[in-house]
Amino acid sequence: MKKRPVIGVTTSQEKGDHPALYTAGKLYSLAVEKAGGIPVILPVLEDRDVLKATSEALDGLLLSGGIDVDPLLFNEEPVPKSGRIDPQRDQYEYAYIEFFHEAKKPMFGICRGCQVMNLAFGGTIYQDITSQREASHLKHAQDAPRWHPTHSISIKENTRLAQIYPSGSAKVNSFHHQSVKEAAPGFMISAEAPDGIVEAIESKGDVFMIGLQWHPEHLWMNFQDTMDLFTLFIQSCV
Ligand code: MN
Repeated sequence: MKKRPVIGVTTSQEKGDHPALYTAGKLYSLAVEKAGGIPVILPVLEDRDVLKATSEALDGLLLSGGIDVDPLLFNEEPVPKSGRIDPQRDQYEYAYIEFFHEAKKPMFGICRGCQVMNLAFGGTIYQDITSQREASHLKHAQDAPRWHPTHSISIKENTRLAQIYPSGSAKVNSFHHQSVKEAAPGFMISAEAPDGIVEAIESKGDVFMIGLQWHPEHLWMNFQDTMDLFTLFIQSCV
């Protein structure tokens, strides 16, 4: 049997000025395990040397969902509907992205993870689609159960994502008030909702990097194509 790749999964910290707990979405780790990887939960630490050494022990990085990124980090002032931020989490995820990029190791970003990845590589986001995007748009903050897809997406041809969705369309769940605006240099937009909101980006180069605006960790138990996304990521880390 092939060696199972070890996948770092980023985490949140509890609310408050002095959080005492790291909080890790369980479904990310279960998906990595099911897809053939070994999930390792990464605490939010500040020492870059420690983060670098940790990255060297890992084969892939899963950037999980969570709260907003500090707009000052991407040279913008916060808009009124900018959400809660965690500067420590921003710093540690930016550091991991830098180290994984240097080492040419795969990354998979989900929701916030997609936005962080895009920003770290020099792309832009809408801090709040409901107030910043002029065109009308769909409901991207669904009230339906998290395991239920509520809007469709179209997937561009000749992308990594199209390997999973050869029909060029899919239905996804949606819990976001932000989205990618312009893809970072070296990335392309690989899926959009019918209203033009970016739902996925991916690297143009050889190293696997995909960012999804939706939450496949809530869908893989019921939808094989969503499980296949995790498998594609894990296989790229071997
Ligand atoms: Mn959406």
